[in-house]
Amino acid sequence: GFRPASRIAGVGVSKILQIGAKAAAMKREGLPVIILGAGEPDFDTPDHIKKAAKVAIDAGETKYTALDGSPALKQAIVGKFRRENGLDYSVDEVTVGAGAKQILFNAFMATINPGDEVIIPTPYWTSYSDIVEVCGGTSVLVPCDAGARFRLQAEQLEKAITPKTRWVLLNSPSNPSGAAYSAEDYQPLIEVLLRHPQVWLMADDMYEHIIYDDFTFVTPVALEPRLKERVLTINGVSKAYAMTGWRIGYAGGPKALIKAMAVIQSQATSCPCSVSQAAAIAALNGPQEFLKDRRASFKQRRNLVVSRLNAVDGLECRTPEGAFYTYSGCAGVLGKTTPKGKKIVTDADFTDYLLEEAHVAVVPGSAFGLSPFFRISYAMSEVELVEALDRIETACAALQ
Ligand code: PLP
Repeated sequence: GFRPASRIAGVGVSKILQIGAKAAAMKREGLPVIILGAGEPDFDTPDHIKKAAKVAIDAGETKYTALDGSPALKQAIVGKFRRENGLDYSVDEVTVGAGAKQILFNAFMATINPGDEVIIPTPYWTSYSDIVEVCGGTSVLVPCDAGARFRLQAEQLEKAITPKTRWVLLNSPSNPSGAAYSAEDYQPLIEVLLRHPQVWLMADDMYEHIIYDDFTFVTPVALEPRLKERVLTINGVSKAYAMTGWRIGYAGGPKALIKAMAVIQSQATSCPCSVSQAAAIAALNGPQEFLKDRRASFKQRRNLVVSRLNAVDGLECRTPEGAFYTYSGCAGVLGKTTPKGKKIVTDADFTDYLLEEAHVAVVPGSAFGLSPFFRISYAMSEVELVEALDRIETACAALQ
């Protein structure tokens, strides 16, 4: 019979995908399910980006490209890092993969030996620990509660570092919490890192462009150039430009790491999709003004969701600085009983109840390593959000 490799023994299909599949099945049965689980913008890819892809196809850009990104895309990425982040990467210090996910995978595959540790603050994007595990490493999860605004504190980092620590992974703004690190938040962490030269940092800046109010986005290397020799600055076009399906992510980092990552990629995918690379060039070099309108639209929806959730007895939601997620505490509904007599013990019980009885699909905090919470993705029409929030409110009021 089939015998899976031990490296995937502890890794399942993500809880988020499981909930999505269950919700989709319910929808097919005709139930009016609203899915607030998706991790992608509801906007379309802008026309000028699609057009660049069509032009590339017609011009015959349909063959293998350079292994870890075409020269033109690498140049666009160098320009992006300089223009938006004040970072000075050269073309041989940047790499392109099939999404930021492949960048993470390449980096861990290229650097992790059995037993190496990766420090991951929770709540975290579920793939982090799964990728680390597939690569034979050990995830060291450090809980960062709402009280600490879901941000890793310097003392926690100091305590989590061991001789086996290889990487620390920071994600700002965060999926799932929407929390973001300001320069002041990063500074104490940078000081810890400067004291531990063997520890490298992955900065996942995927949601850089989705920030609100007067929050100023900053990336660690821009704050401390001495870290540049051991930081991988990860970004991509998926979230900023609504290009999740094009599969283009990229990173800047030290030459030796970038080269090692290319070895992995060469044996996995040969190169990122040529047409998608042409589209990504248009995204990075093209007009950026539309991002402002999209931010404003997300902000309006964030405000709606946060205020409606906080009005529900038993729920508590801090206002996130960025991304398109809320991460709400649901401690107040634990211990209660549903109208059908089921006791709600965990956040997963609560989200099961919301799916089964209110037909609203959200993801429990247990999927992100920090309970009792649940994540809403508000990349949805306002009409659907209002309907979903009405149902959540009614469902919570029905708990005894
Ligand atoms: N990083 C974070 C925090 C994410 O939420 C995601 C997608 O959900 C990714 C990276 C990967 O994005 P992609 O592989 O589409 O570039």
